[in-house]
Amino acid sequence: MAVFSMWVKRAPSRLLPCLSSLSYKQNGSSYKSNGFSSQRNGYDNKSSYDSGKYQRNGFGGQRSGGYGGQRNGFGNKGGWNDQNSLQTINWESKSLMPFEKNFYEPHPNVKKRSEYEVEQYRQSNEITIDGDAPSPIQNFDETNFPDYVMDQIKSQGYEKPTCIQAQGWPLALSGKNMVGIAQTGSGKTLAYILPAIVHINNQQPLSRGDGPIALVLAPTRELAQQIQQVANEFGHSTYVRNTCVFGGAPKGPQARDLERGVEIVIATPGRLIDFLEKGTTNLQRCTYLVLDEADRMLDMGFEPQIRKILGQIRPDRQTLMWSATWPKEVKRLAQDFLSDYVQINIGSLQLSANHNILQIVDVCGENEKEFKLNTLLQEIGDNVDRDSKVIIFVETKRKVEDITRTIRKFGWPAVCMHGDKSQQERDYVLRQFRNGKSTILVATDVAARGLDVDGIKFVINYDYPNSSEDYIHRIGRTGRSNTTGTSYAFFTPNNSKQAKDLVSVLKEANQVVNPKLEDMAKRSGGYGGGNNRWGGFRGSYRGGRDSQPKRMKW
Ligand code: AMP
Repeated sequence: MAVFSMWVKRAPSRLLPCLSSLSYKQNGSSYKSNGFSSQRNGYDNKSSYDSGKYQRNGFGGQRSGGYGGQRNGFGNKGGWNDQNSLQTINWESKSLMPFEKNFYEPHPNVKKRSEYEVEQYRQSNEITIDGDAPSPIQNFDETNFPDYVMDQIKSQGYEKPTCIQAQGWPLALSGKNMVGIAQTGSGKTLAYILPAIVHINNQQPLSRGDGPIALVLAPTRELAQQIQQVANEFGHSTYVRNTCVFGGAPKGPQARDLERGVEIVIATPGRLIDFLEKGTTNLQRCTYLVLDEADRMLDMGFEPQIRKILGQIRPDRQTLMWSATWPKEVKRLAQDFLSDYVQINIGSLQLSANHNILQIVDVCGENEKEFKLNTLLQEIGDNVDRDSKVIIFVETKRKVEDITRTIRKFGWPAVCMHGDKSQQERDYVLRQFRNGKSTILVATDVAARGLDVDGIKFVINYDYPNSSEDYIHRIGRTGRSNTTGTSYAFFTPNNSKQAKDLVSVLKEANQVVNPKLEDMAKRSGGYGGGNNRWGGFRGSYRGGRDSQPKRMKW
């Protein structure tokens, strides 16, 4: 069995914004505490997190079904099965065919490198590790990928591995489970596809009726198709076949690919479950599993589907989970399904706001908010294009209803959304907002993440959220796809514990800091941990979001 070695020579340059080469400029944003006027020009943002477009699929509207059918998760290959659910597999009762997953032998140069040199390299490239990871390779000469892979890399014109590849390849090839925190655009697809190809080429070939050896789960059709493009480029010369299965397209051609047999399946969760339930394919041969953009998948309500799919795959598989952020939901998924894993983070540990957004913080009293909101909407209405959309974030469902009523009384076309609204109501509200029939959406944090609506120019934090991470997600509803936007926050003495974190978010984004807020930050001391986007590795305390008070139920 071939063993591929990874060899090292010199440091790669940085490919991406996450690697500290963020450039930004913000000229002339001025803050006036008595109103909200501001000027801006010249934003140059390169740090937005959601570069791909997607629409959140329904805030928890999840597939029903579940376990308990009669199938045993194996057998039944290639044909249709009228059983409509997947049975939980009792892995302990199965005798599983052994398979190889460690193909890594470091190059002598890598072995020679001192701990200090490795640490220096990681630090200068903003690579942080939790766990026992092999040393990174430092350029392509040090990778001993097979020729067919190297030829393809050369034909792409890539000069050096990106940071995620430099650290991710040795780790993935060593067969360990891993969590990678990296942004789209960091070269992560190749970081897991090339090891997948090596993994596949070292397994028994597929027999008739076998399912894939590598499974890549992705949140959206668009991302799945992008991944497939990379798998096509690098897989075709090695006869590694793939197919992409996603909802919203006819099932026939996808089913035929699956039945013919493919080594890699790239799938969105819902459509894959359809095929698994019907027995079109199975995951009996799957030994290499990738969860891409895990945070987005959870944001989109796919957790039950992911758990269902993962329950169908042998537990000694290699799992690679990728996420742009590390909230507790993603952490829990990793703990439940990866057990022992190495975590790598690429990029600054600081969570940062999109630099295309002008952030204005008004320090005020609780009882001033209503008046200020009215004034602000008036100013927006008087001065801005009528089609501009506004989101107002409020803490509780009840307040959402109250504020929406009040705004409507003043003649504004407002709609609202919170956790008590039915799926149908939410869909309706989103449609109204999306097509501009209502230009103001009042919402709880149910709309803070993932919501991607064109034309949102203003985000108003009527109630300041419980953490700077939530704040960053909320204001990220504007300034998308390189457009600009403005956010406002009413910040009261009750929020003073958040002042220090907020000041660091503002400073990082080169915003003008309201002196009253700065003063509050100095007096309150805050949590002291800054806006750490991980909340600590493995949930350990680092003074980040884990330390914040529990948010209100919305
Ligand atoms: P991803 O993070 O996988 O979405 O990749 C982002 C982009 O980086 C893609 O367009 C890749 O073609 C490109 N890319 C991947 N690896 C490298 C590399 N080593 N050098 C330069 N560009 C790369």
